[in-house]
Amino acid sequence: MSFLNEKHLLTIVKKSGIGILILDQNFKIILTNHWFLKNSFLADQKIENKLIFDVFPELVGTRTLKSIEQCLEFSQYSILTHTLNPFPFPLFDNEQKMKQNERIFQYLHIIPISIDDEPNRFCMIQISDVSQQVTREKLLREQMVFAKEREAEAKKASQAKTDFLASMSHEIRTPLNAILGMADTLTETNLSDEQLEYLTVLRNSGKALYNIINDILDFSRIESGKLEMEHIEYSVHELLNETISLFLMKANAKGIQISYFVSDDIAEHTKGDSTRIQQILINLIGNSMKFTEVGSIIVKALLSDDKKYLILIVEDTGIGIPKEKLNSIFESFTQVDSSTTRKYGGTGLGLTITKNLILMMNGDISVQSELGKGSKFIIKIPYEGIVNKDSIIHQHWLDLELPEPDQFPRCKILLAEDSLENVYIIKTFLRKYPIEIVTAKNGKEAFQMFQLEKFDIILMDMQMPEMDGLEATKHIRQYEQHRNVDPLYTIPIIAISANVQKEVIRNSILAGITSYLPKPVRKLEILKLIYFYLAL
Ligand code: ADP
Repeated sequence: MSFLNEKHLLTIVKKSGIGILILDQNFKIILTNHWFLKNSFLADQKIENKLIFDVFPELVGTRTLKSIEQCLEFSQYSILTHTLNPFPFPLFDNEQKMKQNERIFQYLHIIPISIDDEPNRFCMIQISDVSQQVTREKLLREQMVFAKEREAEAKKASQAKTDFLASMSHEIRTPLNAILGMADTLTETNLSDEQLEYLTVLRNSGKALYNIINDILDFSRIESGKLEMEHIEYSVHELLNETISLFLMKANAKGIQISYFVSDDIAEHTKGDSTRIQQILINLIGNSMKFTEVGSIIVKALLSDDKKYLILIVEDTGIGIPKEKLNSIFESFTQVDSSTTRKYGGTGLGLTITKNLILMMNGDISVQSELGKGSKFIIKIPYEGIVNKDSIIHQHWLDLELPEPDQFPRCKILLAEDSLENVYIIKTFLRKYPIEIVTAKNGKEAFQMFQLEKFDIILMDMQMPEMDGLEATKHIRQYEQHRNVDPLYTIPIIAISANVQKEVIRNSILAGITSYLPKPVRKLEILKLIYFYLAL
């Protein structure tokens, strides 16, 4: 330092890259540097020795001047950021900006300076130009807002897509039910071999389309969080037996073996969502069936060592999956290669739905596979074995043996259904039986007819215009109550609905529904249920 004299130091201050302004105790400007003069456009005005509020009258009443006062009076050090100090010095980058009063964004240090032994205090104001940072910050903030908006828009679009998919799949399912129902009924008529062959193609394609639509519906339900899990008792043994039997014919036709094994330590009954577990198994076995030309498919049910998990394994000797694709096959619309769709069909949604369903059960799925040798899918889901089997919910009526049509009890049924196709399907299902069917096209009409005529059973569609099935059922039950009908002789009301969520069924039962038939209505199911209530 010794070689720096006063002149040196003054030059350093004058040429500093930040703005410097020094005031004496009377607010008189005693020193300014080049940067400050250049950006204040006051270089030619000789501002030194003038009072600060004379040079910058607009600073009166601002935080800048208040901080300067506190600095001179109480030796207080302050920092003023551009955000907290909207009125800094009138400093500008260029004349254009000066005309528009677009000030440089400033970061001020207001520093009290006292020199040893000297009574006088000074105030040094250091001014940094933070315009660049501010612009960058502003840009960043704008980008963040933009990104947030984009995210919100994407979420909205994705929700709209999910809702659209759900409602479209639902809309497509209804007419498709009619097509499948009619095709089923057609097979019962006199057909030539050629016609039967055409009809088989029609039915199989219809069923394939139905499965794809169900996949899309499930996928959109999972995505929108609208899928509910059940927690009911079921038998692993029965579930596997039933599921495997669905594939026996196909396996025979392809010449491959299909079998299952249930470990002895699995209780006769367990708790869980058996419908969804079956759906998972159907997906996995269906894939194995698709991708296996020779050999076998085996399904195993085991317990984990700690007996906390049920482990289901679907193993095949098929084409296998390349190592690098093992993770991505669980992503939506993913197939190992794009020729898969052409060769084997499918949407690439099966495993996504499978994985999501398993995750919803707090389980896990993994896969091991070797190209050309086969694949092994391993599912792990929480296990709740039950020894007592008395409380099993079982649809007893499904075990009933139906009499021949001419032995079937005569009866009169009120069918409340707004869709003409569904009325037609149900009528054709029942046409060979001595069942008189009276139709009502909404709940209101059904309630009126119920008061006028005597019926043995009501088949009640739940979604109808004007008055829905739930409302109509409540009216009917109230009507019966007012007439003191013995609870044993109230009319059985069988709800027919595509919506078989637990909550919906619970509400229907509370409203007075006697039983529930899920859509699409199957001929044997509806006949057996009617027979069951007639025989009661
Ligand atoms: P997809 O509806 O196309 O069958 P999935 O999600 O069920 O869709 O399966 C995705 C892809 O994973 C399939 O297209 C196939 O390439 C591969 N894959 C699934 N299971 C097997 C299997 N058992 N053997 C060989 N490849 C399989």
